[in-house]
Amino acid sequence: MTAVFPKETHAGESRAAAVPEQVAKLKALGLEIEVEAGVGASCGHTDDDYANAGATVRSDRAAMIQGGDIVARVRKPSGDDVAQMRDGTVCIALLDPFQSPDLIKVLAQRGVTAISLEMIPRSTRAQKMDVLSSQASLAGYAAVITAAAQTGKIFPMMMTPAGTIKPVKVFIIGAGVAGLQAIATAKRLGAKVDAFDTRPAVEEQVRSLGAKFVRIEVGETGQTEGGYAKALTDEQLKLQREGMTRVCAESDIVITAAQVFGRRAPILLTKEMLDAMKPGSVVVDLAVESGGNVEGVVADQITGRKGVKIVGTANLPGTVPVHASQMFSSNITALITEFWDKESRTLKLNLDDDILKSCVVTHGGRIVNEKLAAT
Ligand code: NAD
Repeated sequence: MTAVFPKETHAGESRAAAVPEQVAKLKALGLEIEVEAGVGASCGHTDDDYANAGATVRSDRAAMIQGGDIVARVRKPSGDDVAQMRDGTVCIALLDPFQSPDLIKVLAQRGVTAISLEMIPRSTRAQKMDVLSSQASLAGYAAVITAAAQTGKIFPMMMTPAGTIKPVKVFIIGAGVAGLQAIATAKRLGAKVDAFDTRPAVEEQVRSLGAKFVRIEVGETGQTEGGYAKALTDEQLKLQREGMTRVCAESDIVITAAQVFGRRAPILLTKEMLDAMKPGSVVVDLAVESGGNVEGVVADQITGRKGVKIVGTANLPGTVPVHASQMFSSNITALITEFWDKESRTLKLNLDDDILKSCVVTHGGRIVNEKLAAT
């Protein structure tokens, strides 16, 4: 079997789905590896590094994809790339399935077995292949570093002969994987951190990181079986925004990382709330790729509103591409290894497996994921 790794084509994507260290591990399974020339150029790896790890470096992208039994990448494939895939090709990527219904249909029509990395369950067994987690924790870190570069303030308290500097106040909204890492990073830099999340289980996690949990009464919340937040009603979101207005106004930095799986991110910071913030404050919206938590946020731009900077960097893990690629690639290796049959030296995908049941979205000419088939 051959696994191929095309160069990413999504604008500004700096990550790679394979790094040389993982190529060597995949080769050791008995898998042939081909990478497109330049695949690791933006995350610190030369073509020679891949060749030395045992990969064949190819410049003929279309032919390479045609020959691949497994096509693995970070972002979803273009129509041209899908057109090269064969009946039975296994395509592994962040397929963005809820926002890409046409792509999912085409993958099904071509007989591709498509694995949507977003749909990997958040279970203990799947942790090592959980791309959402590995990339979200880097996004949380990068959000704080980005905010630090944009604020005119330092994070820690400093007592000097020139006076005392108060620690910067950071408010983190949504304390999932990214939010918790943002809390930890901001605390390490010396900030005073407040946080809020709608899932009750999060309060303890926030406190254990040394941050204060902001209590806002919004009524019944909770989480889905998969551990994701349930969407709030319009009335609940209104209560939440009212409860957060004062905390936002007092904060120097607000980081929003609130998402509801498979849906548009909720709007949590309205223009009125931004107007109540101090000039010079910074807002980083981690949810911008799923619509944004901040009213008026623009993807990949820093915009201003009455002196408040609103950062809409879409691909925050891509701002730390070396480690993002290292972790992404390790997740891909774990996924392939989990379902690798040593005897036959092939990938054996039993669709009754818990993990595959959740993340294989097309197979045998059909959309096999119920949620997606219904859309
Ligand atoms: P996510 O990206 O879907 O959402 C981020 C956070 O936003 C969540 O904590 C969610 O509760 C919160 N949120 C949603 N609406 C909100 C609102 N209106 N206001 C404030 N916050 C809001 O979540 P995620 O980081 O991908 O994590 C999802 C779940 O999966 C969590 O329960 C996490 O602990 C769990 N998880 C488990 C494992 C594992 O067991 N292997 C691994 C990773 C994550």
